[in-house]
Amino acid sequence: MIVAGPHNFYTLAEGKPLPRNDTSVQVRNQHGGGLVLLQDTQLIETLAHFSRERIPERVVHAKALGARGYFQVTHDISDITDADFLNGMGKKTEVLTRISTVGPEAGSADTIRDFHGWALKFKTAEGNNDWVFNNQPVFFVRDPIKFPSLNRSHKRHPATHTSDADMFWDFHVGSPESVHALMFLFSDRGTPASLRHINGYSGHTYKFTKKDGSFHYVKIQIHADGGVKNLSSDEAVRLAGTDPDHLINDMYNAIEDGNYASYTVSIQTIHPADVALCPVNIFDMTKVWPHAQYPLRPIGKLVFDRNPVNYFSEIEQAAFSPSTIVPGIEPSADPMLQARMFAYPDAARYRLGVNYQMLPTNAAKVPVYVPTERDGFMNFSANYGPDPNYINSSIHPMGFHTSAKSEYKPTEDVLTGPVVFTSEVTDEDFKQPRALWNNVFSKEEQESFVYNISGNIANVKRDWLREKVFDLFRRVDQSLGDRIEEAVSKIIKV
Ligand code: NDP
Repeated sequence: MIVAGPHNFYTLAEGKPLPRNDTSVQVRNQHGGGLVLLQDTQLIETLAHFSRERIPERVVHAKALGARGYFQVTHDISDITDADFLNGMGKKTEVLTRISTVGPEAGSADTIRDFHGWALKFKTAEGNNDWVFNNQPVFFVRDPIKFPSLNRSHKRHPATHTSDADMFWDFHVGSPESVHALMFLFSDRGTPASLRHINGYSGHTYKFTKKDGSFHYVKIQIHADGGVKNLSSDEAVRLAGTDPDHLINDMYNAIEDGNYASYTVSIQTIHPADVALCPVNIFDMTKVWPHAQYPLRPIGKLVFDRNPVNYFSEIEQAAFSPSTIVPGIEPSADPMLQARMFAYPDAARYRLGVNYQMLPTNAAKVPVYVPTERDGFMNFSANYGPDPNYINSSIHPMGFHTSAKSEYKPTEDVLTGPVVFTSEVTDEDFKQPRALWNNVFSKEEQESFVYNISGNIANVKRDWLREKVFDLFRRVDQSLGDRIEEAVSKIIKV
């Protein structure tokens, strides 16, 4: 049994008490030299364990902050979901969060321009519920086959092992559906000033369901109670040098000072009978649902009021997945969501091992009974003792949990249709970025967008590729493309 806090003597890892832990056992010669011994178990274990301290770094979302807090229901939404943690005014549910950059490595500066992943684990009375969101409402692609390519293009070049503007823009020119997300990435929202002042968006469409089989399509949004606050591009670059852990420090210190981060959680809903009225494909995560047609309906508060005591144990070992959902919430036919439901647990099994759900930070607060998932590396449970490891045993019949089996009627959803190529890009893909540019960005925000993006495009070495990038933004708005080209030309001439 590992002792949680300071103890009055040291031991070996298997419990043998030791007088001290700061000296190796040596056979010393008369001149002061020493030979260490293989029998010095303490030395061998100390060195061997150190070499194995690192687990695989997340291939994306490696640099992160973690915090603990709670979700509290503030509005009744019992008309659209029976999920226990979303029902009961004032009900509080324990939440673990992990907020990260996406592309850069664990040791990178957290003010580097990037989307921020925002993962939440709700430890509910019906098992865990994870929301694995971003701080921007849309994503770069809508076909999961593009996900690895997108991320590699934002990372290091296979030959130079450096970030590469040609590779980045080559991907985006080849996948122009990403232009809406690029508008957010290169706005000042791409460099948040504080994680206490970001919004979070499901991006995906979920279904909120009732026990009678009725459901609504839902997008979930989280808004910082103190509003969104961003850094200028120049300030973000400066902080990357002077305080590369700026975002972690800001939130950690604020929580230590009792200045808790708080947010309002809201939903947008569409009744399945009204899907055809939506101006966009509701399963396409490169699109938002217009607020005018689908107003935000507040559902609760999210507050982070505790820092982790140990980052590795509570945050690095935490594993989040959109497949971790409770009764009352279901996935929709959003292809990216469907793929993430496979990819995230698969990543956790690789990174942490097949029994990662047993780790204290991931373990559900409610009883877990899956006797058909047993054994495996690092299984530190009682492993279901003698219970059958096969289904439908007559020797040891298992009663079904009546509520899990029969309370929820299945929702009826249209799940088949013609095969479509979701990567096909049409003028529809440029309408929402155009609205963002023309109707939402202020004059100052337009200026900083052009400044932010032109500095990046100026790093592209190939002239013809730069032309293609300008044309991409001309499809959003002719004047936007022209302004970017002008700004890039000025930087290149200097
Ligand atoms: P609205 O005018 O109702 O919504 C615009 C929304 O844009 C705001 O509510 C705000 O959402 C967000 N926003 C405000 N300032 C900025 C900024 N400087 N940078 C980025 N986002 C900002 O219009 P629509 O709902 O019809 O959307 C118009 C466009 O706004 C969309 O095409 C999309 O690009 C963008 N947008 C829409 C969102 C939506 O869910 N409908 C959400 C975010 C952006 P918030 O309070 O969430 O920050």
